[in-house]
Amino acid sequence: MSWLATFDNLGVNLRNLFRPMNTEPLPWDAVRPRAERYRASFALVHNEHGEEACIGCKMCEKICPSGIITVVPGGRQESPATGKKRGTCKDFILDLNACIICELCVQVCPEDAILMLRVQEPPAYQREDLVLTMEKLYENEKLDALSWGTGTKLIEMQAPAPPPPKPAPKPAPETKDGDA
Ligand code: SF4
Ligand code: SF4
Repeated sequence: MSWLATFDNLGVNLRNLFRPMNTEPLPWDAVRPRAERYRASFALVHNEHGEEACIGCKMCEKICPSGIITVVPGGRQESPATGKKRGTCKDFILDLNACIICELCVQVCPEDAILMLRVQEPPAYQREDLVLTMEKLYENEKLDALSWGTGTKLIEMQAPAPPPPKPAPKPAPETKDGDA
């Protein structure tokens, strides 16, 4: 009886060996862009003048429900591109270990400086590996998988719908000659 069971198990294993795969291989497939709404990891990006877009306003830090963002403002400095003074960021740390992917940090950013990525974060062996430093965040900008969800677009999506158009006024009834 036990021999029969062994052959039965062997048969199951052999059948499974040649079945098509239903799972995604990791980590070698980690940087492949995923579905349009897929969200994981983050990037800091540069603005249209090639400057670091983050102005160190700390709004993302304040809204993060997990308290995992630390922003160190760098003070106001003159922009070489526009000649105007603007805020800068000296340091930025995002600890991905406790991120709940709520995207609130992206939504509040007034400069569209922080974006989410459509890539699977590679598995890590230590908690420290999931801490995104400012350097790592700007490295992530180079990945071809930035999410379309900028702060501006996400806020626009939440704008109240315009009121329905008012019905056109009814035309006045025609009057015949001789009517009083
Ligand atoms: S997506 Fe993550 S980092 Fe951003 S606010 Fe939510 S918990 Fe914080
Ligand atoms: S990423 Fe955006 S919200 Fe956060 S500090 Fe920089 S500019 Fe402000």
